[in-house]
Amino acid sequence: MIEKFEVLKRLQSLKNKINGLEASQERRKQDVQKKKVQIENEKALAEKKHEAKIAVQKEIDRKELNLKTNEGEITKYNVQLNSIKSNKEYSILVSEIGSKKADISVLEDEILDTMSRLEIANQEHVKATEVLRNEEESLKDLIESVDAEVKGVDDEIEKIKNEQKKYVDLLDEYSLKHYNRLSNIKGGKAVVPVIGNVCGGCSMNIRAQTLNALMGGKDLVFCQSCSRILYLDDK
Ligand SMILES: [Zn+2]
Repeated sequence: MIEKFEVLKRLQSLKNKINGLEASQERRKQDVQKKKVQIENEKALAEKKHEAKIAVQKEIDRKELNLKTNEGEITKYNVQLNSIKSNKEYSILVSEIGSKKADISVLEDEILDTMSRLEIANQEHVKATEVLRNEEESLKDLIESVDAEVKGVDDEIEKIKNEQKKYVDLLDEYSLKHYNRLSNIKGGKAVVPVIGNVCGGCSMNIRAQTLNALMGGKDLVFCQSCSRILYLDDK
């Protein structure tokens, strides 16, 4: 028959294994969350680039409208020129036409500049959209592989839990109760070895009385300082 503390040690090691596996699952789920946050940022950036592109396009539309208005006025002035009698009025109109033509020339230059900016804004939008699409694809792949990993680990945990049950069945109620209580509050170290008269859990010296109990008894022996379950290390 396998000794009580040996059963407890194995239970503890199985429990710590499960904790480790669950932590690794949690980390993988966090990876997915991080990727989702990253994609939200990429989405916001792509949206911003889209708005920037629209704004530049609107600027071009405004300038083109302005240009057409100026051209329309020049046409109107040219018609008026035919019916003007006085030299003064004539020269005022001619100078007005000259000024409109200058405006048009400035607008044409501005439109060309703005079109180059539109080209850049367009490229940036295309690039941001492409980055977003790639990230969304890779998120899909990540979710798929994390789901598979988590499921695999679930199966592994299930197996360990079945193994745990076998050991639990070997224990009396009293030992199990103390083990469970300590296991929950002592960070996975409920059962610790005594090495060189020192508790492996809290590093305090063990009383001679406790040592005697450990060597002789079959009952559980607890550290008088940290109240963990003690066993004598063979080494
Ligand atoms: Zn202790």
